Amino acid sequence: MNRPEPRPLLSLDEAMARLVAGAAPHRITQTEALSTFEALGRVLAQGVNSALDVPPEDNTSMDGYALRAADVPQPGTVLAVAQRIPAGVVGQPLQAGTAARIFTGGQVPAGADAVVMQEQCEALPGEAAGGLGSVRVNSVPQAGQWIRRRGEDVQRGAPVLHAGERLTPQALGMAASVGAGQLTVLRRPRVAIFSTGDELMMPGEPLRPGAIYNSNRFVLRGLAQAAGCEATDLGIVPDRLDATRAALRQAAEHHDLIVTSGGVSVGEEDHLKPAAQAEGQVDHWQIAMKPGKPLAFGAIRRPDGTSALLVGLPGNPVSSFITWLLAVTAVLRTLQGMSAGLPRGLPMRADFDWLKPDKRREFLRVRLNAEGGLELFGNQSSGVLTSAVWADGLVDNPPAQAIRRGDSVCFLPLSELVAR
Ligand code: AMP
Ligand code: MG
Repeated sequence: MNRPEPRPLLSLDEAMARLVAGAAPHRITQTEALSTFEALGRVLAQGVNSALDVPPEDNTSMDGYALRAADVPQPGTVLAVAQRIPAGVVGQPLQAGTAARIFTGGQVPAGADAVVMQEQCEALPGEAAGGLGSVRVNSVPQAGQWIRRRGEDVQRGAPVLHAGERLTPQALGMAASVGAGQLTVLRRPRVAIFSTGDELMMPGEPLRPGAIYNSNRFVLRGLAQAAGCEATDLGIVPDRLDATRAALRQAAEHHDLIVTSGGVSVGEEDHLKPAAQAEGQVDHWQIAMKPGKPLAFGAIRRPDGTSALLVGLPGNPVSSFITWLLAVTAVLRTLQGMSAGLPRGLPMRADFDWLKPDKRREFLRVRLNAEGGLELFGNQSSGVLTSAVWADGLVDNPPAQAIRRGDSVCFLPLSELVAR
């Protein structure tokens, strides 16, 4: 019998480039206007330019007295307090030889050029200026001290947020601080997810002989939600060609992307590839990475002639988790006009040996220790989900590279990989 030639493995970089190229024509263009209040985690479709200077006027960063530095040539100088300026109140122009009582955030009156903090002043009761008394200033001020200048944070017209940026809590605060009450964001990517495998059962049901619980369903849905997608869960699809085709066809109609788990090997129970070929077009790759070698990428036709993207992930729980973080994330980010490369890895010290590296690029599950190094999880098998729960991150290890205790390795924190 003739065995088919084993196909050469595709490098992960090449696979990522093909994912980006395949996803780019499907880029999401629909936008929606949202209240800034509701926009957390969304991707900006239009940048935000400041409509104003921030702060809008000079204001004080201390409770104290606003005055002219030249009026206090020596410590102990006494000035009449002519006005009181709490935050939110606009004072009068400062008369020479007077001071204004002022509170943090209060607008510095015209004519004043310094604030002396109250700890360096003594309030003196007196009849002068409407009962506000006077103040003894016990330090000699420098012009400009404790004044936050108009436009010091942001100048009017300056870009403060950019299209393609994900809206973090601090970005929402920035938008608010320049007066943007509404933001134009991309609509969320719509992702349909299903698992294949006749052995899969849902937690809550008693496990029948030969069965396992479907963990990928929870992991992948969670990853989709964490990445800001509208996730549709299509459950478990039986290991049959007709059922797999029907699931793909249904999912394609209302989704940008279909993600499946399992059934992407080339066994006779693996129906994803033939089903996808019948309903569209699909490439089946062997990627030089571990875990997560087999991956399917293609597109499923819709009745109107357009298509939905398809990524078929391997079934092993750690493989599907990691290939989502790398491959599906690249697709989702491309769909939203964001750069698809991996986050920058951090050089970290390995406090472990890894003396029998694989020929493929490996993503090892590791954890930070108290000594500032990395520990390795003992069992790196692609079926051991415990490793992914235990880990803080992954070591991105080049093909065939042994690691010795003390070596510097490339660390990718899970906190950077999830929810990008
Ligand atoms: P497959 O890619 O379908 O050959 O599956 C590879 C391995 O992953 C098998 O041991 C499956 O039982 C397991 N597996 C597949 N899908 C899931 C799932 N949704 N949850 C947990 N394990 C799975
Ligand atoms: Mg299977």
